[in-house]
Amino acid sequence: MDAIAFSSGMAAIAVLMELFKPGCHIIVSDDLYGGSHRLFRSISEKNGLTFSLAVTSDISQIESQLKPQTKAIFIETPTNPMMHVTDIAKVAQLAKSHGLLLIVDNTFLTPYYQKPLSLGADIVTHSGTKYLGGHNDTMAGFLVVSDNELSEKLRYIYKTTGACLSPFDSWLIIRGLKTLAIHMDRQQETAMKIAQWLLSHKKVKAVHYVGLPTHPDYEISKKQTTGFGSMISFETDSEETAIRVLSKVSIIQYAESLGGVETLITYPMLQTHADIPKEEREIKGINERLLRLSVGLESADDLIHDLEQAFEKE
Ligand SMILES: *Cc1c(COP(=O)(O)O)cnc(C)c1O
Repeated sequence: MDAIAFSSGMAAIAVLMELFKPGCHIIVSDDLYGGSHRLFRSISEKNGLTFSLAVTSDISQIESQLKPQTKAIFIETPTNPMMHVTDIAKVAQLAKSHGLLLIVDNTFLTPYYQKPLSLGADIVTHSGTKYLGGHNDTMAGFLVVSDNELSEKLRYIYKTTGACLSPFDSWLIIRGLKTLAIHMDRQQETAMKIAQWLLSHKKVKAVHYVGLPTHPDYEISKKQTTGFGSMISFETDSEETAIRVLSKVSIIQYAESLGGVETLITYPMLQTHADIPKEEREIKGINERLLRLSVGLESADDLIHDLEQAFEKE
């Protein structure tokens, strides 16, 4: 078992891509963190790797993308921002039977709620900037592997390319980890309250939170995780409502990033997913009505009250 600490989540994923040679093909979740999408499209492709997108929650879609050059499957679960869940053990079986590496970006749930290596994954990536740091005040990234040979290869690339985590940032991450369980549990509890409140709001058309029994992947989540996390996305009734909510929230901050003590709201279409072509975005449901919330540690009542006033017209 080995964990390697990087200066950011993207630094970790960039090093990971160095495992592959020109000509290699990787199947990736179609609903992916925007930065990973950008790295694959504008840097890894230039270096000769090829990628196919698949709705990885549907195994047959992964199978239909397999090629002789396929070397890995890269998934994120739950996905960002649509919260689709992939059955990790099932994809791991498929990966094993074809000799592929299964890579899981575990940023949203952290090892506290989800342990992809024990479900059969080969490599886990984390943005430590999010829940592991937990305070919106540092950047970090991690690669975690159980295989020694893989660990040696990654450490060689890591040392050679140099994007390691500085001593002070390491200290901040260790500090964050000390309260990981407590902050994740509380954030989840508050997220559940907010998701339920959103469900009953007349200006909300859909709520995507894996902890709601109405979520299509609720059962898989219950099977493979010990918690649902605190990321919610929801679709408002109009672009006007979405923009009003963004401009009127006051306790909740309109900012990118996630996983810290402060509750943040983002506009995926304009921020995290701006690089994805419009038609592709729309098909995925990332439209001008969709907002994403990373629930922090403020009081649930205060947060709900803040959203309530933000939904209202002047
Ligand atoms: C933020 C994030 C990353 C990238 O991490 P940085 O630390 O910001 O470079 C990768 N994957 C997911 C799911 C993320 O949320």
